[in-house]
Amino acid sequence: MHFGVIGAGQMGAGIAQVAAQSGFTVTVQDVKDEFLARGQATIEKSLARLHEKGRLTETPADVLSRIRFTTDLQDFAGCDLVVEAVVENEAVKADLFRQLGQIVKPEGILASNTSSIPITSLATASGRPERFIGMHFMNPVPLMALVEVIRGYSTSDETARRVTDAARAMGKTPIECNDFPGFVSNRLLMPMLNEAIQCVMEGVAEPEAIDGIMKLGMNHPMGPLTLADFIGLDTCLSIMEVLHRGLGDDKYRPSPLLRKMVQAGLLGRKSGRGFYSY
Ligand code: NAD
Repeated sequence: MHFGVIGAGQMGAGIAQVAAQSGFTVTVQDVKDEFLARGQATIEKSLARLHEKGRLTETPADVLSRIRFTTDLQDFAGCDLVVEAVVENEAVKADLFRQLGQIVKPEGILASNTSSIPITSLATASGRPERFIGMHFMNPVPLMALVEVIRGYSTSDETARRVTDAARAMGKTPIECNDFPGFVSNRLLMPMLNEAIQCVMEGVAEPEAIDGIMKLGMNHPMGPLTLADFIGLDTCLSIMEVLHRGLGDDKYRPSPLLRKMVQAGLLGRKSGRGFYSY
């Protein structure tokens, strides 16, 4: 299997690593060499950690030798499956898929790791909607078992089968759903985080109390506000907007406090402050 990954960021690096660990030949593309170098460093660190814990059957160097880094999209021509993991921006992704539809061999499958952009729209842009699918890995990719596999309107059974087989070969558990705003994962998760934020705004409880109640009472490993800070409040807002717009129901209205915190630049862990300080 020749596996392609576009974007060497947080998710792309993880996906490339897990694909290489499962024995695939991997090509990773990003727009600049410095982004590729950063992605490679992330992979090296993660492999070293797994090796120390005795959870790698090979040396990190053996796994790395199967990954090729490039800035040239033409290097995906011979790929059997290409997973896109670039910024969450529909225009950027659609433009990439328009190009990939021309570059990747006709039988190759194109997939997006998007958290919220309609799979069916990206499939249309690719010009090969039967061989297009959502392959939604969870963060951090090397540790999380789930791959949410999202069928677009025209995704063929054969494509879904090949992609679920690939996910299993990567040691993951694929679970299928259809293309509706937020899919299943974010349709359920984000309204819960949004409601926790609404509770802060209404003074129902302090963030520590809300997180404590959900951890101890519901056995969640992380409270909703800690998780929102971890995901990034800007990302949470953009996913709530996708749900609100896409489903047209005010029950998905983003909390005004979420909107205000994003305007204030309080984005959570990545900006140093959200519901907590880091
Ligand atoms: P990131 O910002 O860490 O990485 C994005 C990478 O894409 C960067 O290295 C950037 O240089 C590169 N890139 C941007 N435009 C490009 C282009 N035109 N061609 C090639 N490379 C390009 O982002 P991330 O957190 O890895 O998220 C990537 C995707 O995965 C998004 O669609 C996001 O919604 C989805 N996702 C993220 C998470 C998460 O928890 N971070 C979880 C599941 C899915």
